Amino acid sequence: MRREIYLDNAATTRPHPAVVEAMQEVLTQAYGNPSSLHRMGVEAERRIEEARADIAALLGVNPREILFTSGATEANNLAIRGIAYAYQRRGRHLMTTQIEHSSVLEPCRRLQEEGFQVTFLPVDRHGILDPASVADAIRPETILVSIMAVNNEVGSVQPIEEIGKIVQEAGKKLGRKIFFHVDAVQALGKVPFSPHQAGIDLLSLSGHKIAGPKGVGVLFVREGVQLVPLLSGGEQERGLRPGTENVPGIVGMGAAARILAETQGTAIPRLHILRARLIAALSGHPRIQINGPPVEQAAPHILSITVKGVLGEHLVHRLELDGIYVSTGSACHSRRAEPSHVLLAMGLSKEEALSTIRISLGYETTEGDVEVAAQAILQAVDELASLKIL
Ligand code: PMP
Repeated sequence: MRREIYLDNAATTRPHPAVVEAMQEVLTQAYGNPSSLHRMGVEAERRIEEARADIAALLGVNPREILFTSGATEANNLAIRGIAYAYQRRGRHLMTTQIEHSSVLEPCRRLQEEGFQVTFLPVDRHGILDPASVADAIRPETILVSIMAVNNEVGSVQPIEEIGKIVQEAGKKLGRKIFFHVDAVQALGKVPFSPHQAGIDLLSLSGHKIAGPKGVGVLFVREGVQLVPLLSGGEQERGLRPGTENVPGIVGMGAAARILAETQGTAIPRLHILRARLIAALSGHPRIQINGPPVEQAAPHILSITVKGVLGEHLVHRLELDGIYVSTGSACHSRRAEPSHVLLAMGLSKEEALSTIRISLGYETTEGDVEVAAQAILQAVDELASLKIL
């Protein structure tokens, strides 16, 4: 059978075999309800606490600061809406960027409809936010700043530590805390960060981007930060996320975090090398333009390219015929033929944005994969460009 080359790891990753094994064991053996008093319940609860400790260790935080959710979409919603409702008496102004994932942009827009004010900060042509623009936009009513660590479409890495300091300083001047939330979904295991060092109060993670399962995520909530929960129900997750816990998912994400802790030290430099090879192979083509920042500010696993005169959608399907899987913008929007808000915010034209694909590498990607994919992309570009259908 023809080998498949999966280069859509920013959309989702293949669960690690150890993750699948751990989840299967929970589904078949440790299937008790963690709230039950008997041995089966206690065992399920123990598994959750083990996973919580593993994720806390990976981040260098206290396990009490780790809250399990149904994914990063819920974590982002809980952070933004949870802070907005809990602290609205202090002020009703929030700040974020124009290039966030829809699970940040949409709750912000909902809050706008409810009377909150939201500033959507612009980025430069590389997809990078100027920290000074954060300082300038903070108002006496600002309660939350939400900035993604790594953009999921172009891989731009934001200066999170610098922004964290600015937010802290501005809060001190105002004599009260301004909360700092970071969507770190695409940073985990790719761009090292420390929540405490960066002054982060809330941080969202997703299981399925790190070789864990879908439908599970984490919100780190710094000790002492109050949130109004999105759901009402039982006392699970300290009442902040009621509902019987997704024990297999949580255990799977814990296993993925343990694997990451062991492997990221060698995997990250390797990803940087693979990405550089891809750039070297593709950048000489007259129709191909590399999007995003220079390497020092780029995540090692995401490469966005615009191909003049070729629709991204056509390229994705043409490469699929070769067994190569890439995507147009982000997976959440790629079924809509609308130009990406991220690329438009970076100054690309509508036509350029629609002529863009994202190639995203994973821990399993090999040098051979990258070489075969690069040749296939070059060939597909020439083939499609000669059809002149754009
Ligand atoms: N934020 C970013 C930056 C993402 O890439 C994604 C996944 N596309 C999410 C949030 C949402 O994560 P989930 O699929 O776990 O809801």
